Amino acid sequence: MAEIKILAEKCTGCKKCISACPFSAITVEDKKARILSNCTFCGACVSACPFGAILLEREAREADLSSYRGVWIFAEQRNGEIMPITYELLEIGRKLADALGVELSALLFGNGLRKKAEVMLNYELDKIYLVEHPLLAYYRTGPYTRAMVDLIRQKRPEVILMGATSTGRDLAPRVATRLKTGLTADCTGLEIEKGTRNLIQTRPALGGNIMASIISPRHRPQMATVRPRVMKKARPSGNRRGEIIEVKLDFTQEDKMVEVVKFIKEEREIEDLQEAEIIVSGGRGLGKAENFSLIRKLARLLGGAVGASRAVVDAGWIPSYHQVGQTGKTVQPKLYIACGISGAIQHQVGMRNSEIIVAINKDPNAPIFDIATYGIVQDLHKFLPVLIEKLEDEKRR
Ligand code: FAD
Ligand code: SF4
Ligand code: SF4
Repeated sequence: MAEIKILAEKCTGCKKCISACPFSAITVEDKKARILSNCTFCGACVSACPFGAILLEREAREADLSSYRGVWIFAEQRNGEIMPITYELLEIGRKLADALGVELSALLFGNGLRKKAEVMLNYELDKIYLVEHPLLAYYRTGPYTRAMVDLIRQKRPEVILMGATSTGRDLAPRVATRLKTGLTADCTGLEIEKGTRNLIQTRPALGGNIMASIISPRHRPQMATVRPRVMKKARPSGNRRGEIIEVKLDFTQEDKMVEVVKFIKEEREIEDLQEAEIIVSGGRGLGKAENFSLIRKLARLLGGAVGASRAVVDAGWIPSYHQVGQTGKTVQPKLYIACGISGAIQHQVGMRNSEIIVAINKDPNAPIFDIATYGIVQDLHKFLPVLIEKLEDEKRR
């Protein structure tokens, strides 16, 4: 929210501001102006004052923007392992930092992660801020928010990227709220606006019907969460030039309010769809919910996960966490087998970066064949049982 204040040393009590205010929100007492509680922060009085005695906070902030420099990424770890999203953020973070002509830094929070930080230096990074503490070993909202907000206040980066993962989606809004800055969630595109240093944050909006480009021109840092598997992953560069900066933080009793006793993994039919190297997906061509057993069988035989089109999720044939596409998950497996899926653009955007795409569809003109590496024009009810049988034979042998 904006704030307005009278700079008493500059105010002469001339009362010009009173007539400029459309809301009668200024009074002058003892030759000093005073803003009343019905002020709407419209700003009309600021330019009316001949002595520059009125300051609106949003102007103060704008003047302050140039003191923010650098791009940061949040290096997510789980159980001490660096998560794949970190490498995706490193790739896009490097591009943004180069466009701005600034350093790229990573924030790594945990306990006993020095070796992991050393490995991360193999990527094109300038700095790693390593914060180690037993409270940071597992993600907890309180201590992570504290650590991140403290560091941002000290170092003032202009851009901060986090993964749109369950951790990033919990942490980013809390940090943004504490810093009173903007946050764009679930971005699929990021670039720097020429001449302004603004981050153009692109994401689907209105149910995926439009792509919105969002900027945060009056606030810093500019914060965005990035949809996993949309950006390319960074590769080690062999150009080790970064440094690890160990940061010590003290935590209060308040930060210790939540204790992690044990992690119990949710038992789902699939492991994380976005991490799977093989995905077998089913669409409306399956005909009915029961026929998903063919997809499950094939996925199990190949050691893969089960995906789905939105049509079958909407029909209630399979839960929504299997959905691939614009309003589902973005995946990039080594092998994607689309069975009875037409390949509408909204499905394609979620899977077209898969290494090998096999499409099984009885319609030779189905759009899925435009992006398929191998196309099989067949009735899936005839084809899949034969394929499954062959694979089972193979396995038995
Ligand atoms: P259909 O389009 O009905 O295709 C079925 C296919 O099966 C056909 O090509 C047919 O030839 C084939 N077939 C039929 N019988 C057989 C058989 N016996 N053997 C072999 N092939 C057979 N969709 C998504 O998937 N993911 C999304 O995230 C998503 N987001 C959306 C967001 C918006 C805003 C909108 C408007 C739509 C979105 N959609 C999404 C829906 C998308 O437009 C399609 O409607 C949907 O992908 C179609 O699913 P489908 O391919 O299973 O069904
Ligand atoms: Fe009046 Fe607008 Fe000035 Fe507030 S900002 S005191 S409403 S002119
Ligand atoms: Fe004070 Fe400026 Fe208002 Fe005059 S116009 S009373 S100097 S704030």
